Amino acid sequence: AKAELDQRICYYEQEMDEAARERRAVAKDLWTAIETEGFHLAYQVQKSVTTGRTTGYEVLLRWNRPGHGPMSPADFIPIAEECGAIGAIGAWVLSAACREAAAWPEPHKIAVNVSGLQLAQFELVDMVKHVLDQTGLAPHRLELEVTETAIIADRKRALAVLSNIKALGVSIAIDDFGTGYSSLDTLRSFPFDKIKLDRSFMPEVEHDEQAKAIIRAILALGKSLSVPVLAEGVETSAQLDVLRAEGCTEAQGFLLGRPGVIDWDGMRRSA
Ligand code: C2E
Ligand code: CA
Ligand code: CA
Ligand code: CA
Repeated sequence: AKAELDQRICYYEQEMDEAARERRAVAKDLWTAIETEGFHLAYQVQKSVTTGRTTGYEVLLRWNRPGHGPMSPADFIPIAEECGAIGAIGAWVLSAACREAAAWPEPHKIAVNVSGLQLAQFELVDMVKHVLDQTGLAPHRLELEVTETAIIADRKRALAVLSNIKALGVSIAIDDFGTGYSSLDTLRSFPFDKIKLDRSFMPEVEHDEQAKAIIRAILALGKSLSVPVLAEGVETSAQLDVLRAEGCTEAQGFLLGRPGVIDWDGMRRSA
């Protein structure tokens, strides 16, 4: 049995080595991508539930890893955070997004995701200021999306950084709401401009009364704090119907538009 256990531990260690090697390889490719501008951006539309009008676009990072194909940011962002590349990647995303949006034919808002490690540094404030100055994007057209996990790491500092950014005229949304630990406390300690209801609620919203009750409570919370709530991950018109009936103000999801390039001509036709 001892020999068998040793062998199993050995396999386990080999697998750990393999995973660590793979992460190192991804990290190396990420650094190369930073130097060669190997990333690009996708935009996903956000719409008013009542009027159907476009309220903004979320900016989503895309990476075609050489020799491997497209890799999800959900997989490579944690590696970028681990290897220290997130600062440079975050700076690229912010400046590329603001530069692109400043050249759009319509002055829509853009929502840029910000990692917890970026939030932990006061340099983020100067970076946002610098990018706005350089690209000429009006501050009110920029929104930063932060998760509660990002704020929890160093709560005081994160909230101070956010206050300074908000003072520039940039708005702040709380992302993936309803999945964190201390949702109510976070909402109480900072004047967020938007609550983004996590997409994990959507699949059940049509037939599950409990999921509907939670959404109703979050919408009531938003209402009493005068903070608009945007529902993420809306895939069916039945889900949209429930959200509309419950008084949700904004939505985002495959039903309304997949992340991609913006078809400005198509938009003008439908406007
Ligand atoms: P997120 O901020 O929650 O972004 C929304 C994710 O949901 C996107 O995945 C989007 O493609 C996906 N999505 C949108 N509509 C639907 C829908 O109707 N159904 C389903 N099932 N999914 C939908 P994506 O682009 O793979 O990004 C994953 C995560 O990676 C993001 O989650 C965000 O946390 C992170 N991320 C993406 N871009 C950046 C970035 O520039 N910086 C940082 N720090 N993180 C980023
Ligand atoms: Ca987001
Ligand atoms: Ca989200
Ligand atoms: Ca997420």
